[in-house]
Amino acid sequence: MPFSVRHLSIFTFALATLFINSVQAKEILISSKAQYEKIAPDLKAGDTVILQNGTWQDFEILLEGEGTEDSPIHLTAQEKGKVILSGESNLRLAGKYLKVSGLVFKNGFTPTSSVIEFRKNKDELAYHSRITEIVIDDYNNPDKQESDYWVAFYGQYNRMDNSYLAAKRNKGVTVAVRLNNEQSQQNYHKIDHNYFGFRPIFGSNGGETLRIGTSHYSLTDSFTLVENNIFERTNGEVEIISVKSGKNKLIGNLFYEARGTLTMRHGNGNLIENNVFLGNGVEHTGGIRVINKDQIIKNNYLYGLTGYRFGSGFTILNGVPNSPINRYHQVDNATITNNSFINLDHIQFAAGSDAERSAVPINSKMENNLIYNESGNHPFTLFDDVSGIKLSNNIANVDVLDELEYGVDKKRITLEKADNGLLYPKGLSVGAPKDLNVITHDEVGPSWYPKAPKTVAFDSGKLHKINASASELLAAINATESGDVIEIAPGNMIVPRLIAINKTLTIRAQQNRRTNISFERTSLFEIQDNGNLKLEGLVISGDESPDAHGNSVIRTKKWGMVNNYRLWVNNSIVTQLDINHSFHFFSTGKGAFADEIILTGNVFSNVTGDILRLDSETEDLGIYNAEYVTLTNNDFTNVQGALAKVYRGGTDESTFGPHFQLTDNTLKQIGNGKRNKTNAGIYLHGVQVTNIDRNTFEMVAPIVIEHTVGEPKTAILNNKFNNTPSPVITEVHVGGEHTATLKNNEFK
Ligand code: CA
Repeated sequence: MPFSVRHLSIFTFALATLFINSVQAKEILISSKAQYEKIAPDLKAGDTVILQNGTWQDFEILLEGEGTEDSPIHLTAQEKGKVILSGESNLRLAGKYLKVSGLVFKNGFTPTSSVIEFRKNKDELAYHSRITEIVIDDYNNPDKQESDYWVAFYGQYNRMDNSYLAAKRNKGVTVAVRLNNEQSQQNYHKIDHNYFGFRPIFGSNGGETLRIGTSHYSLTDSFTLVENNIFERTNGEVEIISVKSGKNKLIGNLFYEARGTLTMRHGNGNLIENNVFLGNGVEHTGGIRVINKDQIIKNNYLYGLTGYRFGSGFTILNGVPNSPINRYHQVDNATITNNSFINLDHIQFAAGSDAERSAVPINSKMENNLIYNESGNHPFTLFDDVSGIKLSNNIANVDVLDELEYGVDKKRITLEKADNGLLYPKGLSVGAPKDLNVITHDEVGPSWYPKAPKTVAFDSGKLHKINASASELLAAINATESGDVIEIAPGNMIVPRLIAINKTLTIRAQQNRRTNISFERTSLFEIQDNGNLKLEGLVISGDESPDAHGNSVIRTKKWGMVNNYRLWVNNSIVTQLDINHSFHFFSTGKGAFADEIILTGNVFSNVTGDILRLDSETEDLGIYNAEYVTLTNNDFTNVQGALAKVYRGGTDESTFGPHFQLTDNTLKQIGNGKRNKTNAGIYLHGVQVTNIDRNTFEMVAPIVIEHTVGEPKTAILNNKFNNTPSPVITEVHVGGEHTATLKNNEFK
């Protein structure tokens, strides 16, 4: 034990006797839940409750009482970071001047709607209370669609600082500021110096990192300050931060390679100042989206943001005339000054203009901004009349649209890197201020908790060499660490059991295509939580598989996965998946979500089922099974099912995916089997981005593409279609002509 409780008590006693008029404050070391329950009702201002080091299982903590500004009631760890709350643990605060520090939540999930909340129940809230140096790491409900918050703010004048929140995988906003009763409005909460780390793509709505308010109370002011936080790869969905209330300040935050935008979705009079967005060219990185009245966007630095449409580097939306509270209020009196927009692919004004969203931005100004694009292309798209945004003294290195030219001067610009690492135009005073501070890792989160990357790269670990033997393979898989590589010598092997993949693993042939693997179970590999699989140079045959329908070479867990996974298959041969009908190469389970499935340079032949089945989410709730499906330079011959079935139903627009890319492949006799109910060689429903380029199709059932919502982008270019019908593309919701681009395709 690092310090003696007895000494502390003596110390406290000494203090108390010095100030005989003050209430006698205590320091109490707690070693059991029962002990905590006993002392908790009697906590007084100045008391400190210390949880003993160790792992606490299923501990639902209620910290309740009335501290004072000078003497809060403090709950802390014996040593910061060494008190782990796991299982079904959570924390509630209720009362005044409470403080909690140094706790780690991991290896579990909350049984209630929040891991930490600033309330005991609907009526008993917390005020002037603070959580500091708290960690919530990968603390997820095992049912990914069960929604919870990690931190829920209620009451007023509460603060969260220097905390670490990363790897939220289940549904629900990571941090929510609730305004649902008067006691929680005009709240002046402060959220500062926190590290919001990796949030994997959620794969439907409900993956925001921070939300302030809800549409229902959005005309209420919140006065929440969000300052000096880092949002790093918080990729959950299209909204990183969703502001849904008034008079909030978001200042000095860093958004690092984060997909999505800071969205001023509802509420008026918000200030977005001194923030830094570094997209670094990562796909779907966005900046700021402006909606509503009196918004101020100044002194921000936005760099390398690739997003488009509502996910653009900078977007000003059209509103709905007399908008209902949950739709889009008109942009009125927006001030956009001294921002640097450097290498933004898109800046969109009057975005979303349509029959409903017809109220154009008014009374707004855009001054002293820098627009610089290395590509030489300007980033602007105008969707309606934008004369309500008055431009003056903006400077660009590129020609802009005629409608904007009056307020944007074209100049030769040389960018120079300043001490803060940001780029500034030499000799010009437009754009973000020179002294803009870029918050660093050292300044956010608890210093004692490492900000580790949340994915392990393939081939980043040790090499294990084995013979072509099933028992050696199974033993090697048990012995590996995440990132390791298993290399199999030439030979033949028959695997008698399902191989569970629950770490990042590469399995490859020592000599290309000279290791043959057959398998006796319905699947060879099952990807489970924490599993990522890369196969390279193998020959996989279904010749020893059970004579039953519905086998798959690879599948995910059949239901209930909460971790995203990656699957790469390179340079391999897959054949004889034909012992019975409906033998697939890959099948997803329900609820499983792939960050990426990449097939490169493989040869597939004689398959009675589908190659990729990614269609288990059939309820049309905007949920789907894979973000990126990329097939390059493969040969597919005699596949009775489809090459891929990708299904993303529903009308929600909170996701960027799925993406489907098919380049330089040869497809021969695909999709013509009588059990292929879609009658499609490739079936894509609700896919957001589709590129089908330079492939050869021979006797392949048609490509069937069903566009749903989100202005999907589909391009079918430079393909040869021999004895293959034309693609069938439909607009499911809007009807009319489809929006896909088909060019340079040959039909014979
Ligand atoms: Ca959302």
